[in-house]
Amino acid sequence: MSGRPNVPKNTPKEYDILAAQTTPDQEGHSDMTSYLDHLECTQCGKDYPHAELIKVSPCCGKVLFARYDLSRLRSEVSRDVFAERPENMWRFAELLPVFKDENIVTLGEGATPLLEANALGKNLGMNSLFIKEEGLNPTGTFKARGLSAAISKAKELGVTGFTVPSAGNAAGAAAVYGARAGLGVKAYMPQDAPDANKKECLLADTELNLVDGHIGDAGRQAVAVADEENLFDLSTLKEPYRAEGKKTMALEIAMQLGWTMPDVIVYPTGGGTGIIGMHKGFKELLE
Ligand SMILES: [Zn+2]
Repeated sequence: MSGRPNVPKNTPKEYDILAAQTTPDQEGHSDMTSYLDHLECTQCGKDYPHAELIKVSPCCGKVLFARYDLSRLRSEVSRDVFAERPENMWRFAELLPVFKDENIVTLGEGATPLLEANALGKNLGMNSLFIKEEGLNPTGTFKARGLSAAISKAKELGVTGFTVPSAGNAAGAAAVYGARAGLGVKAYMPQDAPDANKKECLLADTELNLVDGHIGDAGRQAVAVADEENLFDLSTLKEPYRAEGKKTMALEIAMQLGWTMPDVIVYPTGGGTGIIGMHKGFKELLE
């Protein structure tokens, strides 16, 4: 928000301090703690420390994936514990990137029902069809998962404000999660974005900027302002952690199906984070 203080970018020394603060101790894994290990360039596989606030890989300029210590997780935590925890996506804390509970910015996202759609399935010639009702998330869409994860992790790494370009839903979610975190958000939306999302931004005290042009133009403005004002830009696939929140859709579907995988998932791709996140989630379960 205008009028809120900007902080200077973290120095490498500050990353070290943050790393020391956020690295879990050896005994701390019986309660819910992240097993995040490092970030990995999806193009060339180069590793980066997760305590660094980096957006895309410095080597290739590509998406960074959060990588977890899955072998240690497998030996230390049974998947049965997930079902016993409070019903939101943070029940999968070991496979999410946030180390300290106090950094989790949540409105109870996730744990949406998997509805059996027998009649529709029959009409489509399927033996079994389920619909994952993501409309029950806070702010009404699955965007809540990604932005809860990304804003929580950014908070943990010392970010104090955000920009977000959006066709609508993501800005609405970023606005509300930013407000929940007590951190300012500047949203960039095309003029013709849905009124509901514009109102969501205004209600959450987000600075709403309507952009002439399409989502790509909004994205360029958001990046430019983030650079200028030392804010963290939340653009799709330009930071590592929105996909981690989306991943929990896959973890939940598997859990709801008794730890089996569906044959096929039909999913509206949009910016791509959701489908990439779900694929990553299923792969981590298989590992
Ligand atoms: Zn690379």
